[in-house]
Amino acid sequence: MSAPVAGGGQRIRVFEHPYGRHAFAIRDYLTRSGIPFESITIETDEESVAHLGTALASTPLPVVVFPDGARIDDPTPARIAEHFGWINRPRRSSYDVIVFGAGPAGLSAAVYAASEGLEVAVIERDTVGGQAGSSSLIENYLGFSHGISGAALAEQAKEQAIAFGAELLVMQHSLSRTFGDHLMRAELADGSALTARAVICATGVQWRRLDLPSEDVLYGSGVYYGAGTSEAASCAGEHVYVVGGANSAGQAAMNLAAHAARVTVLVRGPSLSATMSAYLLRRLLAAPNIEILVNTSVAALEGDGRLRGLTLISDGTTTNVTANRLFICIGGRPNTEWTNKTSVATDERGFLLTGTDVTAEHLLHWPLERQPLYLETNQPGVFAAGDVRANSIKRVASAVGEGAMAVALTHRYLAETFG
Ligand SMILES: Cc1cc2nc3c(=O)[nH]c(=O)nc-3n(C[C@H](O)[C@H](O)[C@H](O)COP(=O)(O)OP(=O)(O)OC[C@H]3O[C@@H](n4cnc5c(N)ncnc54)[C@H](O)[C@@H]3O)c2cc1C
Repeated sequence: MSAPVAGGGQRIRVFEHPYGRHAFAIRDYLTRSGIPFESITIETDEESVAHLGTALASTPLPVVVFPDGARIDDPTPARIAEHFGWINRPRRSSYDVIVFGAGPAGLSAAVYAASEGLEVAVIERDTVGGQAGSSSLIENYLGFSHGISGAALAEQAKEQAIAFGAELLVMQHSLSRTFGDHLMRAELADGSALTARAVICATGVQWRRLDLPSEDVLYGSGVYYGAGTSEAASCAGEHVYVVGGANSAGQAAMNLAAHAARVTVLVRGPSLSATMSAYLLRRLLAAPNIEILVNTSVAALEGDGRLRGLTLISDGTTTNVTANRLFICIGGRPNTEWTNKTSVATDERGFLLTGTDVTAEHLLHWPLERQPLYLETNQPGVFAAGDVRANSIKRVASAVGEGAMAVALTHRYLAETFG
């Protein structure tokens, strides 16, 4: 599952309508997967015939053409992954530990588990990297003094995990997970049935939405979640908007400001100093083409198939502005829907409770003499690591640290349970 680098310097080409939302999904997926590509806009019959051999109306854009000449019309990310040979069935039916999620926490757990001799499978519903994969430049992760892109960090971690013997199953998700008799059983969407003696849940968070009318329709056609890594280059000369006050919004603004004429950051609170790292805030304030509007929120999105404008409310005053692109970076909600059908406890926002955060009401059926270990949920042998865990520190380094720690605690659990 190594990244296919186009032969002879040639890149994958993505032919697309301007502002096409399907094309955005492909660009976003390729970017997060660390695959270089060239994006070519097709607007006229002439362009369509010249590049793809058919008139615009009969060309199912987007079209992806690979360096070897293979072509997929209107693909999904899964079809691209399939083309690369990345979608595999599990090699075994039972593992020592299954890790859910291949963001920094899950990849770290995979590296430490495999390097310490455990049979480990990582089940990832999308591509590797998690949120970090959408970060254009992580500057505060130890050891990278000039920063590293999230996609590059994820790719290296993936290679490391595989080299130690971890099995990575991407574009896979489980339909069910049950726990009992010291075994976790999972049924995957491809029909595979797996068991594991321990589980590390590292499913992180996904972007929160503004929950405005038309937001879903405009997603990918002017409305984006996250740092806009795949979109930045196409913002040349534009005035773009970023919503949010934390580091992800700051990174998005810096990344976009390298291309766009002007970037306006919309912050709901009165300042950024409490929510953004000082180094990032200093850069934002020094950038000549970034402006920050505090006490401002987005009240409505205007658009007809693509974003055209925003209604902003600032200190009670409503303003309408023209806008073609809005990048929403307002934090995440945990990927823990699966807990609904289990007894694994979450807090009121859905984050997994572990260690001393597990409350007495959730320990009524706890079968052991000891209390849950630091990263253990109210289900013995089920651990949580990274952003998905209640009260975790939402940083790459913390997620990586918790992934490693979850493996150490897994060893403890396996030794006490299975000898
Ligand atoms: C744009 C951006 C910039 C950032 N910049 C920085 C930075 O500069 N420095 C810093 O320290 N932190 C930064 N962060 C925060 C950092 O990326 C996160 O704290 C970190 O990625 C959390 O790692 P994680 O593994 O816990 O979760 P995630 O990164 O959220 O990964 C979770 C993974 O689990 C997968 N998943 C979800 N549900 C399932 C399921 N049911 N089955 C299988 N897989 C599932 C997801 O697809 C995802 O790949 C940034 C975040 C963003 C969004």
